[in-house]
Amino acid sequence: MTPEDFQILKAYLCESKSHRWIQENIMKLPAPPNGGGYKAMEVLHRYGVKADGKGILNEVNVTPENILDLLNSLYSNEEEINSEIIYIEGALISKSVNSYERNPRARMKCLAHYGVKCLACGFDFEKVYGKAGKGYIEVHHLLSLASLKREYTVNPIEDLIPLCANCHAIAHRKSPSFTLMEIKAMICKS
Ligand SMILES: [Zn+2]
Ligand SMILES: [Zn+2]
Repeated sequence: MTPEDFQILKAYLCESKSHRWIQENIMKLPAPPNGGGYKAMEVLHRYGVKADGKGILNEVNVTPENILDLLNSLYSNEEEINSEIIYIEGALISKSVNSYERNPRARMKCLAHYGVKCLACGFDFEKVYGKAGKGYIEVHHLLSLASLKREYTVNPIEDLIPLCANCHAIAHRKSPSFTLMEIKAMICKS
């Protein structure tokens, strides 16, 4: 990735700049009001960035090293793992666990912090599957009783962790899910 491409991605994904702004201020090309951001759009499309990516990495610390992994991870957690409905002391917490795992902004902050390897077993999708696995990882929401309040806001670093598909599936084999320590202990014993 060229330094200019990085600046363009950062401006769009982190700073919510418009195509026209990027074209004028980073690419130093004229950008007339009608359709003037076309050149900038071309660069973003080359990296698979869609219109809904604008500002999606707001407050995420991006570097030329992690930005491609983060981009590849953007849409990789769409699969539905059986939703869980939690009861505490008789009260129904209606929000499904997985809704937190699919929040793209929270996902990105989590992955910018932890990277895209499985936190339980260290599995690295790119290492095993090559290009097709680059940036692929699932994000798991660690539930704790304390976190299950009605006005709960997810903390992307304390409450979310990256897990490979296997460890993630195992985590959800019980409800509330197995903790990271429990999964790690299972792996060591087997
Ligand atoms: Zn794993
Ligand atoms: Zn999960």
